[in-house]
Amino acid sequence: MSSFSESLIAWFQVNARELPWRQTRDPYRIWISEVILQQTRVAQGTAYYHRFLERFPNLSDLAFAAEEDVLSLWQGLGYYSRARNLHAAAKFVQTERNGDFPPNFKELLALKGVGTYTAAAIAAFAYGENVPVVDGNVMRVFCRYFGIHEDVRLPATMELVRSYAAQLLPTGKSWEFNQAIMELGALVCTPSSPSCATCPVAMDCFSRKNALQAKLPFKSKAKSKRIRHFNYLLLEHDGFFAFKRRGEGDIWEGLFEPILSESEKPFSSPGDFDFLNPADSNFRIESFLLPSEKHILTHQELHIHVCVSRLSKRHEEEGLRWVSGTQLSDLPKPIIFSKIISKARSSPLYLVFHQ
Ligand code: SF4
Repeated sequence: MSSFSESLIAWFQVNARELPWRQTRDPYRIWISEVILQQTRVAQGTAYYHRFLERFPNLSDLAFAAEEDVLSLWQGLGYYSRARNLHAAAKFVQTERNGDFPPNFKELLALKGVGTYTAAAIAAFAYGENVPVVDGNVMRVFCRYFGIHEDVRLPATMELVRSYAAQLLPTGKSWEFNQAIMELGALVCTPSSPSCATCPVAMDCFSRKNALQAKLPFKSKAKSKRIRHFNYLLLEHDGFFAFKRRGEGDIWEGLFEPILSESEKPFSSPGDFDFLNPADSNFRIESFLLPSEKHILTHQELHIHVCVSRLSKRHEEEGLRWVSGTQLSDLPKPIIFSKIISKARSSPLYLVFHQ
């Protein structure tokens, strides 16, 4: 074993955090934890992990679940396509493989939504297969340690780091090595102010010797985001709100939202939100605007403008679902709507309506 791997693993044995997914070798549980951790940090991810496994303790529970239940548990994590892919892959394993989880890196790659990183993580952590697991933490450690100046956004840089990691990975120690390097990136070789004084591989680190910790890894600027204006008409009648399921081919696929009109420019007065047919507009008692919200996604910047409209009777149209405040918490919806509903309810105008 190289001195790098030896020092790293020895450090890990003393400093490793106790994390629930480190106590199991079950590929299903490891898969769930990895997908959740791609969305969020450990502290928040742990709560999601426990909730998810409580509801779907094994693969068949997930495979036979309704998509709405899966999306509902995913609320707050974002990237709902990951939850849909988890569900689709679970169904595939259940029906096409009789519930047998793919047994190695190569076969894991065939699952929907499972890319190189996730397949490597499951193969290394569940089966001990000798494959390097390279995430953002590992990229940072290796770029600093070896003095790699290439842009970490480039697939070629990822491949370079994977090849270094593969060479250092000691046979039969895949679990320890991969966990250790990720842990080092999370606890010691952090994005800003790495703790080089306590680092087990500091002796030969290129960046420490050349004071390049703040310069590496190098990441080029992200492309500018697409700006979109979402204008929502949030209908309310007697404490119930009207929501619709989003269609396919855009963000938030399959989630619920109020009636939407997207525009180039924001709608700025209640009259702009007059999407109802004239007959139903007559049932409008009062309308008011909420302060606009900005919601940032990886490649998009959403500006959310909401007009709350109280009706004296329910408006009905195809696909519209009226839900009470209690049902709303179980409705799979972009997390921003929990915030919007609570703002709507605490708005002085809403309170006046309900006196
Ligand atoms: S010595 Fe510092 S920069 Fe180098 S790997 Fe360790 S923590 Fe990171």
